[in-house]
Amino acid sequence: MRLRLPPATIRTRVSVPLRFADGYVTEARVFSFDGLIDGREHLTFALGDRAGDRLRGAGRGAPLVRPHSECLTGDVFGSQRCDCGPQLREAVERIANSGGFVLYLRQEGRGIGLYAKLDAYALQDAGLDTYDANVALGHREDERSYLAAAQMLHALGVSRIALLSNNPDKVRQLRRCGVTIAEQVPTGVHVSAANGRYLATKAQRGAHTFDLGLLAS
Ligand SMILES: [Zn+2]
Repeated sequence: MRLRLPPATIRTRVSVPLRFADGYVTEARVFSFDGLIDGREHLTFALGDRAGDRLRGAGRGAPLVRPHSECLTGDVFGSQRCDCGPQLREAVERIANSGGFVLYLRQEGRGIGLYAKLDAYALQDAGLDTYDANVALGHREDERSYLAAAQMLHALGVSRIALLSNNPDKVRQLRRCGVTIAEQVPTGVHVSAANGRYLATKAQRGAHTFDLGLLAS
């Protein structure tokens, strides 16, 4: 069933030059919005020349879009307990090359919040996997919503996308909100000494579509 979302509108658009720790540089047009359904301050980063064409109605083909849920420890501090930092870094460069959008969603810890995420880490250190730890804390395994992501795409006039993701739940939720997924583009697998078990759990429990053989090493 198609979900009818209230419309969001573009509030501010501003250019932000980006420089990552490894020296990669690009420029983003960062959008904020009014009317997002959960009242949180989600952002869209438009990257690459073709994203600008899309917004002017001149672009061809579906823009590459990555919905990325905020991870303070991974995105900012380079935590190796997860793969969020490398996933975000990869997404920015791939999207800057092909034209599209990073939707930066303010939903920490699979939607349970930053403190609860750290509580879940403590439970994981005691032996629970990443999903069971959330449940033990009284949360669902994954509380992330992509309704605001769909609202942002609608506000930008983007109804058809190539989705950069391994997560089938993102596909399902965006489709329900009227976003056409022209193509699903898998992300790379970013394995570190500390996140191998986390990634294997994501594959087994969250039905993420990456190659488990890569995780065995
Ligand atoms: Zn993370």
